[in-house]
Amino acid sequence: MIISDIRTRQFEGVTELAARIVSDTAPGQSFDAWFRFSIPLPELQIVGDPFLAAFLLGCMYDGEDLHVNSPVSAKMLEAMDEQQSTFASWYPDCMKKIAITSTETHGQLRSSRTSRTGCFFSGGVDSWYSFLKNQDEVTDLIIINGFDIRAGNDTVWDRTRNAVETAAVEYDKQMIAVNSNIYTLTEKACPVWGRRFSGNFYASVSHGSALASVALGLQSVLDKVLIPSSFITAELRPWGSNPHIDILWASEDLTIIHDGCESTRLEKTRRVAASDLALCTLRVCSNNGRGDYNCCTCEKCVRTMLTLRLFGTLHRSKSFDRPLNLRYVMCMNQPSSESLSLHRDILEAARTSGDIEVMYAEQVMLGDKRSVYRVMRRAGRSVYRFCRRMIHKRIRIAVGGMAVRVWEALNKRQD
Ligand SMILES: [Zn+2]
Repeated sequence: MIISDIRTRQFEGVTELAARIVSDTAPGQSFDAWFRFSIPLPELQIVGDPFLAAFLLGCMYDGEDLHVNSPVSAKMLEAMDEQQSTFASWYPDCMKKIAITSTETHGQLRSSRTSRTGCFFSGGVDSWYSFLKNQDEVTDLIIINGFDIRAGNDTVWDRTRNAVETAAVEYDKQMIAVNSNIYTLTEKACPVWGRRFSGNFYASVSHGSALASVALGLQSVLDKVLIPSSFITAELRPWGSNPHIDILWASEDLTIIHDGCESTRLEKTRRVAASDLALCTLRVCSNNGRGDYNCCTCEKCVRTMLTLRLFGTLHRSKSFDRPLNLRYVMCMNQPSSESLSLHRDILEAARTSGDIEVMYAEQVMLGDKRSVYRVMRRAGRSVYRFCRRMIHKRIRIAVGGMAVRVWEALNKRQD
């Protein structure tokens, strides 16, 4: 891969940083990768750091060497050997070390420090926790359109942006809104180039590097950026963002910190629930493609609602606009390995607080207790899905047969 033609421009109050990408796996084609920042970046320099972070892991997956046709941070470049070794050891079957080259390296770009610290802020529990914990130090809240909020999901983006803007005003911080097409170019479920990845490449491999690429785009104004953690220290695993790898994306001007590993999800939610503003703007949904801020039915929504109920604050949370249905919880699929311990924590907290209804719903969902209701509902759901599939199949056969007959009749008439 060659990353070249790195350039900046200002338009309509936006600062754009862009580059041309040519991949060995898409011969004859080139693509523009870009970041658009909502603030002026007068000292933004033409360096390759953000694009190296954005595309390195995809290149490792596709097995192509990477050349940056611009200066790259000497500190970052040196750390990429360890970075690559970590990912190659985590995913030995599909990722291998590649050669990275650049026209030259650069050292410190700024003559002085700015004393500004940014915090990635999606409005979820992890980001609210990291922000509240470090609120004296954090000066900027960074929100991104195009990563977990997919490009084009304007309903959720507008509402999230308004919520973060409110938080920024309330706490006297600056909001930096970023638009980027990095996710679109690097996701591997339906890749623009290269191989397909069976699984969630963004979550498992690349979301930390994508966040780091945005942070590096802001290194002319920020000294430090916090990436809120997903897991506690005891449960760290191969994952796109991790304290051991996030720190390696740093440059001479920018420190990147993975923040919040010391607290469980329950402890984070307890801290967040103490803020009325956080309660009213909390956004945790992983199922927002239909435009819901929080759908109130996906695993993340339900898990957060259960926790807030245990803390007695669910009724005050305006961001969940549908009631918690414990019968629905009983019939949910058993949680994935990533969220199993989180549900065990909720069960334990329900036991401690004496909330028998939540305790029972969790026990049934986790398979600790049997429930006729769960068996009947899940059997009914299976029958419903089977019938719907058969009806669709019948309709497809009938429509197909009709189309063939019409086609044959038309052909006969022409004869
Ligand atoms: Zn949801």
